[in-house]
Amino acid sequence: MDCIFCKIIKGEIPSKKVFENEDMLIFCDINPQATIHYLAVPKVHFANVVEMTDEQATIVGRMLKKIGELADSLGLQNGFRLVSNKGENACQSVEHLHIHILGGEKLSEKMG
Ligand code: 5GP
Ligand code: ZN
Repeated sequence: MDCIFCKIIKGEIPSKKVFENEDMLIFCDINPQATIHYLAVPKVHFANVVEMTDEQATIVGRMLKKIGELADSLGLQNGFRLVSNKGENACQSVEHLHIHILGGEKLSEKMG
């Protein structure tokens, strides 16, 4: 399968990793849109929240919990924004579910 994020998870494409456990990898976005911009990706491949099985949803739930626990150590003690794009209108460009983690500065009140 030709998936950039699967290749990053397998180490076939280099990335700046900030956290890894059995569920996910968190690494720096190559084109940051905030002072801090990480991507959290599940190790299992699925495209987005619409494609997600119940089991995969459980993994994403654990990912969110862990992101909350890691926030301070990731430099996000003053707050952060989580975004997961799905489909054309949201400009999803990588078809492997990912959660953008944005922070490190005061973000825009507008999200769209
Ligand atoms: P999307 O637009 O699908 O929600 O977000 C995809 C994100 O992946 C973009 O923010 C883009 O900068 C990031 N990205 C794409 N290719 C790579 C890559 O090879 N390495 C890293 N670290 N980020 C990537
Ligand atoms: Zn993938």
